[in-house]
Amino acid sequence: MEQKFFLKRVLSGIVGLVVEVLAPQPCPGCGVFGHGRGGWCESCFENLPWFAGSFCRRCGRPLGLSPGGLTPPLCGDCFNEPPFDNVRSACFYEGVVAELIVRFKYSRALYLLNPLGEILLEGFRRHFGNEAFHFITPVPLHRERLKERGYNQSALLAGFLAKRTGIPVNPKAVIRRRNTIPQVKLSGRERRNNLIGAFAVSERALEQIRGRSILLIDDVVTTGTTLVETAKVLKRAGAARVCGLTVARSGHS
Ligand SMILES: [Zn+2]
Ligand SMILES: [Zn+2]
Repeated sequence: MEQKFFLKRVLSGIVGLVVEVLAPQPCPGCGVFGHGRGGWCESCFENLPWFAGSFCRRCGRPLGLSPGGLTPPLCGDCFNEPPFDNVRSACFYEGVVAELIVRFKYSRALYLLNPLGEILLEGFRRHFGNEAFHFITPVPLHRERLKERGYNQSALLAGFLAKRTGIPVNPKAVIRRRNTIPQVKLSGRERRNNLIGAFAVSERALEQIRGRSILLIDDVVTTGTTLVETAKVLKRAGAARVCGLTVARSGHS
């Protein structure tokens, strides 16, 4: 019975997505109908809060100038060798980008996959344009949460990027073993404890992970704890390189 309900949610999600993709959408920034990338008009796309400024070369966290006026190459956390190689974000989590992500994630606004996917693609081109990845994989959602929401927003974004870049997508390389409290409700230390042991690599994906270069996709990075924990299990399973890309980076770190 429960399975049937789940299937119905998934199917209605897919039908909704098809309808919404086919119907023209106004620019999410200004409301004007156009034919730009993912529905964005040129000017709104150009003026998105693109990630810029100095940042940690490893985790992508924005960095201020040190007293000497120089920007250190790494943030304090990354001197302790995080499990990922690079994390980058397309935009800052603010304005229209933050608004769209919230609607995409919590209000079933699946038609926003196109405008958000285009932002992610642009971020990929800017930050990972010269890198070769064996596959793309999303940060997983626990199946209970998936049942509630009907879709994993990060998996949709990963699929979009895969289609547009031609890089294969492996939607279930990492699985979520435990259902955890949503990270947004927790402080930094609680976030880390909350996720310990939450992820695992799926048995079936083991062979595909060893020695591979993998790009992890999530919608937003805040403290980076989720990406750290996901990357950890991939590295433990023998991944050669694990990078992360998100649509946006939230300011508080
Ligand atoms: Zn516009
Ligand atoms: Zn860092």
